[in-house]
Amino acid sequence: AKVAGKNCFRFYSRAMNQAVERRVHLEHELRGAWDRGELSLVYQPMFRLVDGAMIGAEALLRWRHPELGFVAPSVFIDVAEQSGLIEVLGPQVLHAACADAKRWQAARNDDEPMFVAVNVSPRQLRSGDLPEVVSATLRETGLAANLLHLELTETAVIGDELHASALLSELRGMGVRVWLDDFGTGFSGLSHLRRVPVDGVKIDRSFVADVLRDPDDLALTTAIIAMAHSLGILVVAEGVEKEGQYAILRERGCDFAQGYWLGHPMTAEEFHALRV
Ligand code: C2E
Ligand code: CA
Ligand code: CA
Ligand code: CA
Repeated sequence: AKVAGKNCFRFYSRAMNQAVERRVHLEHELRGAWDRGELSLVYQPMFRLVDGAMIGAEALLRWRHPELGFVAPSVFIDVAEQSGLIEVLGPQVLHAACADAKRWQAARNDDEPMFVAVNVSPRQLRSGDLPEVVSATLRETGLAANLLHLELTETAVIGDELHASALLSELRGMGVRVWLDDFGTGFSGLSHLRRVPVDGVKIDRSFVADVLRDPDDLALTTAIIAMAHSLGILVVAEGVEKEGQYAILRERGCDFAQGYWLGHPMTAEEFHALRV
């Protein structure tokens, strides 16, 4: 048993070393990826449920490496977060997304302006200079503050609510909208809403996935919508893949929706072409 245990450990540690090596390699490659033009943004449209109007889009980062191919955002965002690289990448993403959104507005001024939603990582929030970065970006790109929506995960605000609340208040004071992403996955979600100033919540797609099958998920989704509305905040459902999900969310009074059934992430040009 002892020998087997030793072998197991050897296997385990070799696998661990490989995982560590891969991360170090990814981090090294990611460092210059923006300047080499390997990173780009795609936009997933968001819709208002009462009238079906397209109202904005979420910016999602893509990394296409010449040898590794497409690296999943869940993988490289984590590497960027752990290594601190996100503090450089985050502002670059923000700037590019605001510049794209400004171009959508310039092309058509007659209809309702489209917002852009940008993901902000916990580390960016903790770095403390987010309000300065945001205000400089809005100034440089000329995008109206109310057309920038920031998406923060629940985990980013949990733990240091006072600090997070002060930052979010400052951002909202500038006119920027703030959303809590992946809502419902952290247990403390509901009680947090009273203390953290946000404009809305994004119901996590794990709930949306099961609203037609699992009565508990439907009940929870319905409760989140009712509670959010009673607090005066809006609700987005993400990961809508079926017409039935869309229909039931609309019936339950959800405000906005996003998902493959409505539209896949696409390039800025493709998104822009959708509107004209
Ligand atoms: P997220 O913020 O929850 O983004 C939504 C994810 O769901 C995206 O995955 C999107 O492509 C995917 N999605 C959209 N509709 C559907 C659907 O109907 N069904 C399913 N199954 N999935 C759908 P993606 O692009 O792979 O991004 C994964 C995560 O990586 C994002 O989750 C976000 O946390 C992070 N991320 C992406 N771009 C950025 C960024 O620029 N900055 C930061 N900090 N994080 C980012
Ligand atoms: Ca998001
Ligand atoms: Ca999400
Ligand atoms: Ca379930």
